Amino acid sequence: MIRVLVWNEFCHEKKSDTVRAIYPNGIHRAIADFLACDDIEVRTATLDEEHCGITKELLAETDVLIWWGHMRHGDVPDDVAEMVRDAVHSGMGAIFLHSAHHSKPFKLLMGTPCSLTWRESGDSELVWVTEPAHPIVRGIDRAIFLPHEETYGEPFSIPNPDRVLLLGSYSGGEAFRAGCLFSRGNGNIFYFQPGHEEFPTYHIPEVQTVIRNAVRFLAPTYREEIRCPHVRHFGDPEGYVIKK
Ligand code: ZN
Repeated sequence: MIRVLVWNEFCHEKKSDTVRAIYPNGIHRAIADFLACDDIEVRTATLDEEHCGITKELLAETDVLIWWGHMRHGDVPDDVAEMVRDAVHSGMGAIFLHSAHHSKPFKLLMGTPCSLTWRESGDSELVWVTEPAHPIVRGIDRAIFLPHEETYGEPFSIPNPDRVLLLGSYSGGEAFRAGCLFSRGNGNIFYFQPGHEEFPTYHIPEVQTVIRNAVRFLAPTYREEIRCPHVRHFGDPEGYVIKK
């Protein structure tokens, strides 16, 4: 069983009739509903819960964390972002969606500004598959068509990803690295650009397929806190193995 935690800021849905009409129970519930299946169990947490609904213990019981945030990145306490970073370093998988490019935990894991260019003009987007053999894009044809999406453009100030699996092109002309894979410590991170709150992007089956595939790909097979222990010489008769 893969244990997923979907974290959502859950603010636009409360403030905007447009957004609430698309996601009446919040983006987190919409994602949880399409993910939950025989081998994936899903919990959710939101910004207004105590300590953002995140604890070290909860992260230790989470295989893959999904993060959506936009207007209140600054209200996420630094220690929550640090807990997420540490959990990823230990092996937890993390998926950062859309405007989570500017979230505290993503920026902490990337170490760069993670800024981009943007425009809300109702462009359509084609999200092109660049690595058709990769498990995260299994089941996707050459491209995903999104009738409307917020335009994100390069330069996207992230470190060079390990792999770019998807490349977005917009009717307005921009191009954007829409699906980026990174490893940090024992964990893996996937950034996936679609998901502006004013469009029903997470109701689109191919978008759901990519997120579901990413959950399965990022679920850790190894999890261990990374430390820096002093060890004995390999030939020491008392052994070189680190006692935990
Ligand atoms: Zn947006």
